[in-house]
Amino acid sequence: MQAPITIDTPVEFDDGLPESVDVTVIGAGVIGVFSALYLARLGKRVLVCEKGRVAGEQSSRNWGWIRQHGRDEAELPITRQALQLWHEADAETGGACGIKTVGISYLASSEKELARLLEWMDVAKRHDMDSYVLTQAQANGLFQKPTGHPWLGGTCTPSDAKGEPWQAVPAVARLARAEGVLIRENCAVRHLHIEAGKVKGVVTEAGAVNSEQVVLCGGAWSSLFAQQMGISLPQLSVEATVAQTQPMEAGVSGSWVDEELSMRRRDDGGYSLALADDHGYFISPDAFRHGLKFMPLLRKSWSDVQLAGISRADYPDAWAVKRKWGSNDVTPFERNRVLEPASSDRRVAKIRRRFAERFPSLGMPEIKHSWSGMIDAMPDVVPVVDQVASVPGFYLATGMSAHGFGIGPGYGRIVARMLAGLSPEHDLQRFRLSRFSDGSKLVVGPSL
Ligand SMILES: Cc1cc2nc3c(=O)[nH]c(=O)nc-3n(C[C@H](O)[C@H](O)[C@H](O)COP(=O)(O)OP(=O)(O)OC[C@H]3O[C@@H](n4cnc5c(N)ncnc54)[C@H](O)[C@@H]3O)c2cc1C
Repeated sequence: MQAPITIDTPVEFDDGLPESVDVTVIGAGVIGVFSALYLARLGKRVLVCEKGRVAGEQSSRNWGWIRQHGRDEAELPITRQALQLWHEADAETGGACGIKTVGISYLASSEKELARLLEWMDVAKRHDMDSYVLTQAQANGLFQKPTGHPWLGGTCTPSDAKGEPWQAVPAVARLARAEGVLIRENCAVRHLHIEAGKVKGVVTEAGAVNSEQVVLCGGAWSSLFAQQMGISLPQLSVEATVAQTQPMEAGVSGSWVDEELSMRRRDDGGYSLALADDHGYFISPDAFRHGLKFMPLLRKSWSDVQLAGISRADYPDAWAVKRKWGSNDVTPFERNRVLEPASSDRRVAKIRRRFAERFPSLGMPEIKHSWSGMIDAMPDVVPVVDQVASVPGFYLATGMSAHGFGIGPGYGRIVARMLAGLSPEHDLQRFRLSRFSDGSKLVVGPSL
């Protein structure tokens, strides 16, 4: 299958809308799909509404890293469980997710970066991880080709894995459907149906469905959906580009990133390459609405984000986008079914140049295909996974801040248990919605 999934990908999931279900999931990215699968396994009748295509947005556009390395300490137990769940899902889908244990390495070209990487090793030790420090020789020895870059060392977690996102998430959606989940593409949820302050169902573009629980897994659209209900979710979208090379001579089997470039070897023998320090931000009203909350994060990583102009009129946080609508109005979710920013030629040229600098014997890589995706970022780089206290029956699982692919099954399991009234088996304090309004000091997670 060609990556990523786009609006031109044929509709595969077109289940009829039932009159009622136990749970409606809004959004069929990795979070929505895994939540639905595990909810069904707990005996719930589940409907997933997807405004565009299953995994059409971030969930098919990402690097495919399944990473424990560098995770926020509160997320580490969840991400470790998620890794196991990915392996299970891969087995259950006959290997369609492409999960392989390849290891992930972080390489440093400067003493300052090396010191930054080493800080996380204390967390790794506390959690008994297999992570270790790479010497200069080990860092350069990762590659089967001579390198032209002065890496000083790094850190590595051998048990980290990779998947093939555009195969994996649809494969899990098929598994969920086989276990009774209804999934409907081209079906935006316009708003919730609320009676006496409680969730009673959803109003979709194809009709209404009764359900007393609804979980919003809307990625970059979640803030807009929540806003129409008066719920403030400080989330901004950051654009990133990925380039796929043609199959090439092997340089390295694991995934790695340094200060500038990241690389993952795919099953087809090519590499997925991306810049680590060049993301785009489209200026939008949300920057002003939530700007103060993002200041600590910006101070940490301002040089990695470039202003990319004014947000396009059909982007979720554009000036022109409608913020209120009625049940019969066409909503912004229908006007942009698959959020697919154009791939940046400038970034692709930079990716090729940086690859050639690092591997002079391989030279400028041939790029088969490139694309961009819009990352939904939270001010402290950890998501919100919580019930909305003011709207009983309404839950959020969103704001995955560039690491939702790897940790997705872990949060999916948590969502399912939370909605089924079971213990989530993880401490969710760090992921509560109220942290943005209860006066707590925001603690920015490690953005490794
Ligand atoms: C370039 C790039 C590289 C990345 N690399 C990695 C990586 O290597 N490892 C990793 O772990 N993570 C990575 N990420 C992040 C990861 O892809 C995301 O965190 C994850 O996919 C988010 O999943 P999600 O289900 O929350 O959101 P999404 O995948 O964005 O899905 C949300 C879905 O909700 C739908 N939706 C929204 N509103 C509505 C509505 N009202 N009605 C119906 N449907 C709606 C959307 O159409 C969309 O399909 C990367 C992201 C990008 C863009």
